[in-house]
Amino acid sequence: MSLGTVPRFPLANLPTPLHELPRLREALGGSARCPRILIKRDDLTGLALGGNKLRKLEFLVADALEQGATDLITTGAAQSNHCRQTAAAARLAGLDCHLVLVSNEPNPAVQGNLLLDHLLGATVHLVDGDAPGAMEEVAAELESKGRKPYSIPAGGSSPVGVFGYVAGVLELVGQLVDQGEDCQRLYYASGSRGTQAGLVLGSKLYGAPYQVYGVAVSPTSEERDQYGLGIANRAAEMLGLTLRVQLDDLITDSGYFGEAYGVPTAGCIEAIKLLARTEGIILDPVYTAKAMAGLIDHVRSGVFDPSSTIAFLHTGGSPAIFAHGDALL
Ligand SMILES: *Cc1c(COP(=O)(O)O)cnc(C)c1O
Repeated sequence: MSLGTVPRFPLANLPTPLHELPRLREALGGSARCPRILIKRDDLTGLALGGNKLRKLEFLVADALEQGATDLITTGAAQSNHCRQTAAAARLAGLDCHLVLVSNEPNPAVQGNLLLDHLLGATVHLVDGDAPGAMEEVAAELESKGRKPYSIPAGGSSPVGVFGYVAGVLELVGQLVDQGEDCQRLYYASGSRGTQAGLVLGSKLYGAPYQVYGVAVSPTSEERDQYGLGIANRAAEMLGLTLRVQLDDLITDSGYFGEAYGVPTAGCIEAIKLLARTEGIILDPVYTAKAMAGLIDHVRSGVFDPSSTIAFLHTGGSPAIFAHGDALL
C-alpha cells in the first residue's frame, strides 16, 4: 500500500498556504539579527475552524467507513481541538460522534471548543479520569445496541492518523521547492505525538531540508517517545516502506510548556500578542503559542544565522483562546 492508494476522506482545505512573516522578523531585530521565518498555515484547513487534526482525520474517517462504522469515539480535554474536529468530520461522513472529555471541573465553561462540540451535535461524556476505560464503556454500550463504533486515540495519534502528516510533508516539501525556499528547522507544538510521527517519517521519506523540532506542550517521557516511535514505524510498515524512524530523530524540547498542559506561560502570552499585533495571526495558549515562544527564544539567543530561513507549523487551536480570556489580557 502506498500513500496515494490509502483510503482518504476529504475534509481539509488543501494545500494550506506557506508564507513569510516579515513583520515578525522586523519585530525580532530585522535581517541583522533574525532569520527569515516561514509559516505553514494548517490553522486554515477549514472545517469547523480548522487545525492539524483534520489531516489525520482524512485517513481515520476513511478507515472507519471501510470498516462499516456507525459512530466515532474519541477523547481529549474539555477544550480539545481534536475532539471538535472529530465531531465535525463525523457529520460530513454521516457518522455519530461520542466525545469522552476529561475535566477535573464538573461543569467546564461551555465556551470555545466545547461549545462547538455541542453545536456539532456530538454526545459529550464528561469524566474526571480514566479516559480509555470510559471509551471502552461507551463502545460496549453502543455495540449492545447493534452499532459499530470506531475508537480513535487521543489526538488521532494512531498509525493510520500518522498518514495525515506524511501527506502533509509531501505538500510542504513541494511548496518549499516551488517557492525556491531552503529551510533549516521546522518548529511545531507537540502533544500526543501523531503530528511528530508523521512529520518525522514524512521528512525522512521525502528528503526534507529541515530538522523537525517539536516543542512540548505537556511533560515529556521515555514512554511518550516510544509511543511516537512506535506509531511512526507501524505507519511506515503499513506503507510498505523499509525506511524506519529512530529514537534520535525525535526532538521534543520540554523547555517551554511551563507548569502544566493548558496553563499559559509568560512567553506564550507574549507570543500570542506579538503574532496578533505584527501579522494578524491568532495563536492559542495551549499549543501554538508555546511552540512560538520556543522559536522566539531561540532567535533572541542567536541560535540561527540571520541569513538562514526557519519555519513554523501553525497547527490551529484558536477556538481555545475564548476559554482563556482572563489569562491573556
Ligand atoms: C493536537 C494539537 C497539536 C499537537 O498535535 P499532536 O499530534 O497531538 O502532537 C498542536 N497544536 C494544536 C493546535 C493541536 O490541536
